[in-house]
Amino acid sequence: MSVSGKWIVFLGAPGCGKGTQASFLKDDHSFIVVAVGDLLRANADKTMPDSSKTIGEVMKAGELLPNEVTVELVKQELMKSVDIASRNVLFDGFPRTVTQADLLNDLAADFGKNLDAVLYFNIDFELVKKRILGRYTCAKCGMIYNKHFVNPKVDGECDVCGGHEFECRMDDNEVSLLKRLNVYDNMTKPLIDYFNQRGILLDIDAGSPVEVVMQSILLSIGL
Ligand code: AMP
Repeated sequence: MSVSGKWIVFLGAPGCGKGTQASFLKDDHSFIVVAVGDLLRANADKTMPDSSKTIGEVMKAGELLPNEVTVELVKQELMKSVDIASRNVLFDGFPRTVTQADLLNDLAADFGKNLDAVLYFNIDFELVKKRILGRYTCAKCGMIYNKHFVNPKVDGECDVCGGHEFECRMDDNEVSLLKRLNVYDNMTKPLIDYFNQRGILLDIDAGSPVEVVMQSILLSIGL
């Protein structure tokens, strides 16, 4: 598949490395990245329609937000770009259910597009747990570290900006993670068959080192 004006989805369990790879496609290959988790985090303090809960509270519990919230954010993000028709667009963490996949198909049609490829990040759940429960970021610049795999070169000092404060995502704890993996198993995994049947699913070995995963992504989308 060669790339120009394509719509691509990253599908996989929490912690499979979708976000890291998405930022490479954005920075090095000018993709528009629609990362629904990031959009929701930016709106974490907002109260949901017909509920007293905030978006952040639902995320912290490891549950999925209602489609009316996520689809609206996705739409707004797409409409921000004036040259959307000619740009490559990557959806990270959307769709997460079969209903969302149908909604994304409708949305694509509204923009005169269709989904070109879904990259399934295949990874062992034990590795996912280590990646998520070890993950922490620099509070100043957002650089991601992991206590098991990659720590700053100087203890307590960010390699990128020299910051000394670090933080964890509000949902990167054992209770939320179990819930998120459960939601993934029950709601998101059926999408593997869904997209396979449509002939657009591509399998990526997401347990490999970051650079190797990047190469296989570039190869599979023809970049
Ligand atoms: P992520 O940053 O992709 O790991 O997503 C973090 C959290 O945001 C998830 O655990 C959900 O609570 C929420 N979320 C992200 N994407 C979606 C989605 N497509 N539908 C509903 N909720 C979502």
